[in-house]
Amino acid sequence: MTRPSPITPTVDYDKDGVQHGYLRLPYSRDDSAWGAIPLPITVIRNGAGPTALLTGGNHGDEYEGPIAICDLARELEPGAVQGRLILMPANNVHAVVAGTRTSPVDGLNLNRTFPGDARGSITQQISDFVANEIFPRGNAFLDLHSGGSSLDLLPSTVIEPTADPELHRRSLAAAQAFGAPFTVVIGNYGDIRTATATACAAGLTTVGTELGGSGTVSLENLALCRTGIRRVLTHLGLLADNVGLTPLARSATSLLEIPGSRAFVYATTDGIFEPSHPNGQTVHAGEAAGRIHRVWEPAKDPVTLYYQSDGILYGRRHPGRVRPGNCCLVVASPYAGPF
Ligand code: CA
Repeated sequence: MTRPSPITPTVDYDKDGVQHGYLRLPYSRDDSAWGAIPLPITVIRNGAGPTALLTGGNHGDEYEGPIAICDLARELEPGAVQGRLILMPANNVHAVVAGTRTSPVDGLNLNRTFPGDARGSITQQISDFVANEIFPRGNAFLDLHSGGSSLDLLPSTVIEPTADPELHRRSLAAAQAFGAPFTVVIGNYGDIRTATATACAAGLTTVGTELGGSGTVSLENLALCRTGIRRVLTHLGLLADNVGLTPLARSATSLLEIPGSRAFVYATTDGIFEPSHPNGQTVHAGEAAGRIHRVWEPAKDPVTLYYQSDGILYGRRHPGRVRPGNCCLVVASPYAGPF
């Protein structure tokens, strides 16, 4: 028997106006036996129209999206909206408070727990609620990520590969409306446990972002995030006007894809990684991608790593220290379609 979600919202999804509230998530612990964790949610509704869900803090060390979602929650007048916005800026709330990728409560990466489990641990209960209570109310989903503490990625919107050509077309158009320099098709090795893969399976127009990373706040990418959200909401028919933003040509964003495992350059030994190129550089398969230095053994030559695909350098590991299996670099290749 399926257990219903133990989470109780303090907002009414169907009420007009702005409501700032919480999802009350029971969490029995040493300092609060019948305690609950407040997971923030804002609903802005104005009459009939589509519903868009915006989430940040899926990973707790990615900051541009959560800041921009909170701005929107405070600033947007309901009269500017046609339909409904559901804003969740700190989705894996314990990870957000801790500034970590995964939850310190159960060690889980929210973005590998979808569609969740109402009988599972805290993080699984959050993904269950999003997948089974929020997604069915939505038409569109923006999951705002950056690279986190360990990666620095080119500012981009991201779409999931999908077998549904009509959904693909809708998501691609929404992703391009954001106005990031790049739009990248990323399949996460076919992982279906992500928020965006689950939203696609539910038929929502689905856009992710990667807006820098390195565990910091990029001013440039934060500005892009603020305008990008408004452009997408206008594109979806949810905002009455573009609030002074010039509409973009679709050609303003370059289309790329991560071509499977050969996109990734992994560390093969313990050491300090020196990349050959900055992000954005055009690179080729077989070219030296960087070297791993073992500075505690100065007589040993560095180990050279090589690219396995052609494209542009989409991202790099942020910490210099690497161990075998760390992702040092990611190459994105020109997207070949379908469109
Ligand atoms: Ca992320």
